[in-house]
Amino acid sequence: VKRSGRGHVRRYRPDQHAATERFQLLARELGHALARHELRLVYQPIFSLTDGEIVKIEALARWQHPVLGPVGPDEFIPVAERVGLITPIGLWVLHEACRQLTHLPDLLLSVNVSGLQLMRRDFVPGVLEILNGLEITPTRLELELTETSLLHEDARAVAALQALQAHGVQVALDDFGAGYSNLTRLRDLPISDVKLDRSFVSCFLNDDDQQRHQAEQLLRGVLDIARSLNVTVTAEGLETPGLVRLAMEMGCDLGQGYALSLPLSAPDLQELVSRQPLS
Ligand code: C2E
Ligand code: CA
Ligand code: CA
Ligand code: CA
Repeated sequence: VKRSGRGHVRRYRPDQHAATERFQLLARELGHALARHELRLVYQPIFSLTDGEIVKIEALARWQHPVLGPVGPDEFIPVAERVGLITPIGLWVLHEACRQLTHLPDLLLSVNVSGLQLMRRDFVPGVLEILNGLEITPTRLELELTETSLLHEDARAVAALQALQAHGVQVALDDFGAGYSNLTRLRDLPISDVKLDRSFVSCFLNDDDQQRHQAEQLLRGVLDIARSLNVTVTAEGLETPGLVRLAMEMGCDLGQGYALSLPLSAPDLQELVSRQPLS
């Protein structure tokens, strides 16, 4: 128990203290991660559910710290966002993933982008410069943004997306169904793909008939709107063959998940793609 300034007894919470220490440690170490080459990317294939071919890859960041070991992006991306490191890290991710794309001529690339990156004036020119420098057609790049990062529908963020889309860059709405699931957002934003969150997709396996029914209703709504707007629907978190079949039967266009492929290193991905029959 600690005594704070005005004589109140403040309960000392060891887990909160540990979390603060961990945050500060990660923030400090993350500042060196790029220069020390501790970050790398893996790529998870995204498959067409109609013909089973790989059409797209999603770049996913990995951090291997020499002492702390692997730190997952769910932990270090929020740290990067809070301490202002998401801009350099995000640019590195884009550049590194686009560099890989030059070896994969038939595929599209999806890159996760933080809402904070969109707020920067130099974001749009930065993306275009990377594409130009590597001679990549902008239509091969898709940026994934979560519903929550677009929640405020900030005018600058929307303008940035529209500017990129005018150049041909695609935008996907990530983690749909995990939080607010606002269908109107599909109409209002320049989106070409909706990614159904794993938590939402797994509702289709729910034993509770009513919950399963609700999820199915919501998915039908999403699919209807998506069809009318010419937006594709990707089912994430397809962990089992049963879920893959369900996503196909429900009419999702694309699928991603461990049952189809794990995230792969660049060489493993190239090898997988080279074995894929040409269409
Ligand atoms: P996300 O964008 O929703 O990415 C999908 C996550 O689900 C990845 O986790 C992937 O490895 C995992 N996953 C794929 N298939 C399955 C499955 O069948 N079952 C299960 N349980 N999980 C599956 P990962 O790589 O740990 O990334 C976590 C999150 O970190 C991502 O979620 C994304 O929000 C963020 N992230 C990763 N890389 C970046 C990046 O370069 N920039 C930004 N801003 N965020 C990133
Ligand atoms: Ca994503
Ligand atoms: Ca997602
Ligand atoms: Ca996620």
